[in-house]
Amino acid sequence: MSNAINLRPCPFCGSADVNLVCVSGADGEERCIDGEEELNDESVFAFVHCHSCGIDFISDAGRTPKDVFEAWNSRA
Ligand SMILES: [Zn+2]
Repeated sequence: MSNAINLRPCPFCGSADVNLVCVSGADGEERCIDGEEELNDESVFAFVHCHSCGIDFISDAGRTPKDVFEAWNSRA
């Protein structure tokens, strides 16, 4: 069992129904990241998606899941 990551609620609508999503550069496939061990995967492009208001959040600081995760939780 992996350590689940804990995203803060959406700062725009307050929903907790948010996911950290990454897109594989190789095949463009999207998948949700749900374990800490996946945060440092530098081969993917990551963003946070809110299922309630539909926003996609990307980070100016970087594109790895860890960059986006930390940016999201520091501004939310
Ligand atoms: Zn939202």
